[in-house]
Amino acid sequence: MRILAIGAHLDDLEVACGGTLAAAARRGHAVRMLVLTGSAYTNLRGQVLRTAEQALSEGRAAADVLGVPDLRVLAFPSKDVPFDGATAAIKAELADFQPTLVLTHHPFDSHQAHVGTARATFAAAKPYKAIWLYEGMQPAGQPMVPFRADVYIDIGETLPAKVAALKAHASQYAKYGEAWVETLEARARCRGFEAGVRHAEAFEVVRMPLAI
Ligand SMILES: [Zn+2]
Repeated sequence: MRILAIGAHLDDLEVACGGTLAAAARRGHAVRMLVLTGSAYTNLRGQVLRTAEQALSEGRAAADVLGVPDLRVLAFPSKDVPFDGATAAIKAELADFQPTLVLTHHPFDSHQAHVGTARATFAAAKPYKAIWLYEGMQPAGQPMVPFRADVYIDIGETLPAKVAALKAHASQYAKYGEAWVETLEARARCRGFEAGVRHAEAFEVVRMPLAI
């Protein structure tokens, strides 16, 4: 397979599908992570919480931990993914990578940049037959239309790499604390229980051809 995982911010993919991407890479599938924004953040008072340089450095470290070094980062603003510009940029990336599976945000996510990324991905990926949505995580990523778990990927082997990748995002780990990691470990256990394995990540299918 050729898996293109598209996210708005550096850390979104690690949170939502880091275990799956690591497992796919270990099995020899081609995996690319595409992040649309520079992922710098300020709080409401304008205080810098994360610079773009810090985000990129953390994202590269996390990608290496996952064994997915093919990470491309674009420079749209962290809180504003413009539909036309992002659609054109994603089309170019799709043409370059030629994925057989595209992963993206839930379109009813509570973060505007996640929504923008999902909408642009749907528009750009019209010719591509397999699109799955990954599961978001609060404080963003709380969909007003509930996420539906359709497909489960066993991440029993790669959960430690996922946790290490989360911690590689040192600014985010400092911001959200150990509860951030614990919650994602607990969710992996919950999704694993649903799937009859130890740990799993879940995906909602937009479309997926099946050969019978
Ligand atoms: Zn995000």
